[in-house]
Amino acid sequence: MLKVIDLTRVYGQGAAAHLAIDNASFTVAEGELVTIVGPSGCGKSTLLRCIAGLMTPTSGQVVLNGNLVTQVPDRLAVVFQDYSRSLFPWLTVRENVALPLRRTQRKRHARNQAAESALAAVGLTDAAPRYPWQLSGGMQQRVAIARALACEPVLLLMDEPFGSVDAQTREDLEDLLLLMRAERGITTLLVTHDIDESVYTGDRVIVLTSTPGRIRAEITVDLPQPRDQISTKELRAFSHLRAEVSRLVRGQPAAPASQRADEHGSFGPSARPEPSGIVSPTPTPTPPSGAPSRTCSPPSPRPGQRPRA
Ligand code: ADP
Repeated sequence: MLKVIDLTRVYGQGAAAHLAIDNASFTVAEGELVTIVGPSGCGKSTLLRCIAGLMTPTSGQVVLNGNLVTQVPDRLAVVFQDYSRSLFPWLTVRENVALPLRRTQRKRHARNQAAESALAAVGLTDAAPRYPWQLSGGMQQRVAIARALACEPVLLLMDEPFGSVDAQTREDLEDLLLLMRAERGITTLLVTHDIDESVYTGDRVIVLTSTPGRIRAEITVDLPQPRDQISTKELRAFSHLRAEVSRLVRGQPAAPASQRADEHGSFGPSARPEPSGIVSPTPTPTPPSGAPSRTCSPPSPRPGQRPRA
């Protein structure tokens, strides 16, 4: 479905050149929900923008369903963190959701129906005639998600989508995302700096190093589905995965295999390889580090962790 091949992105030139993403390669299978986590400023947004066709890589390729991405592909949806800038305040919620569908051949009535259906999916039927500024932050972000869904995207890209809402709303939106994925099987790539979120929502977590962003590890999250904010996070396996991702994000060595859970309610089948396969850590401290949504399709669990070279 999605292949990112040796993607490098440099900002600026000469002495001012800044290597943001260095030689990143990974794939996302159809229906998979992959999360990308890394320290602030490591190049997560840069990577996502290159994948979305919003930015040209300095070298390397992005291939979506066999086609080289050179501009924003049809039926690709992006949800950004800043819902206040991605929704048009002078349009109603229904109009905001239906807006990108104007690029399609559908008649106005059909566009409005698709918008209503997407709003129903995110629990906002009653909000359709209201304006974004009449809604809470969490509701506005639901509108942004509904707008992405209305396009029936083959690939949904999310850049820190829940970063601007309170903790409770964030959990609700994470669960909404998981529900949408379960119901619609949309292939999703979610960028976050929140380690819990990366593990809770992901089928697989891709960990980036601090700047320049390089892929340090890919970790399969074999936690049971459906996930639940309380019972999933109570699992020993969740704590272990969380700790493992945390170590990797912080540039620390991975835990010895002996310290990992290996029964269910755990990592599932104890097929996780020795951590020696993980790219050797770069023990650097975490350095410090932000457009409207632009638009226009069951994970294949793999046991264990896929180390990166
Ligand atoms: P993240 O999303 O992980 O916080 P970004 O992709 O936003 O990281 O940025 C990666 C690095 O590239 C950072 O060091 C940032 O300062 C730098 N950067 C981002 N955008 C630009 C730009 N337009 N010009 C120069 N440097 C940039």
